[in-house]
Amino acid sequence: MADICPVCGYPKELCVCEDIAREQQNIMIFTEKRRYGKLVTIVEGINPADINLDDLAKELKTKCASGGTVKQGKIELQGDHKRTVGEVLKKMGFIVDVKD
Ligand SMILES: [Zn+2]
Repeated sequence: MADICPVCGYPKELCVCEDIAREQQNIMIFTEKRRYGKLVTIVEGINPADINLDDLAKELKTKCASGGTVKQGKIELQGDHKRTVGEVLKKMGFIVDVKD
């Protein structure tokens, strides 16, 4: 017997729940100035019930070649990586709003 997704009722390999979840996130990407004028990139609005923030942060840190953390449901990356983060998340199927 194939594994059936309890949410959409399709077999796991056809499950679209995560895709739908991604499209429903309202993600904002912006930078904030921290102490000593250092910029951090903040990714806000991801629902941690749908998306594993630690995994996503790890992926973004690799793509941006930067350090970062997950704090209170937000991903923070050292430096200005708005554009890279925006591109990566879009490719993953997220709808993102990059603030300039
Ligand atoms: Zn499903």
